[in-house]
Amino acid sequence: MKTLTVSVVTPDGPILEDAYEMVSCKAESGELGVMPGHIPMVAPLSISAVRLKGKGQSDRIAVSGGFLEVRPDKVTILAQSAERPSDIDIDRARKAKERAEQRMADKQSDIDMRRAELSLKRAINRLDVHDNNF
Ligand code: ATP
Repeated sequence: MKTLTVSVVTPDGPILEDAYEMVSCKAESGELGVMPGHIPMVAPLSISAVRLKGKGQSDRIAVSGGFLEVRPDKVTILAQSAERPSDIDIDRARKAKERAEQRMADKQSDIDMRRAELSLKRAINRLDVHDNNF
């Protein structure tokens, strides 16, 4: 089975670079599975889990939106933020979720509501990736 190099980069620096057989992620247009030899493309990513299937191991990463760039032998994920399950601070994500829910319940302006919704999505995504349920 061929592999492709997957590189995950955030404004804080590189998070991961390794060889995998398949990348599954959620583009804004829907679920996407990328294997070696895929046609080149660029797509915006949702706040979601990126799943990486390797020879021995599989990995998953919580990403908070960004872009996916596909070339036949390489996938680059440029994310606003990206965390491996072991790097996710559960307490922080739970608190972020509560704050966002509270702000949404307070029914603030449309802009604040949208920000709270995105914050809630990021928190739920982190909790899901940590617990491996998505
Ligand atoms: P918070 O309100 O807790 O800051 P947030 O969703 O606003 O959450 P982001 O702006 O998405 O946070 O991320 C800022 C930085 O903090 C990024 O480097 C991100 O990886 C990190 N980060 C945010 N939440 C967590 C978490 N629960 N566990 C680990 N790292 C986190």
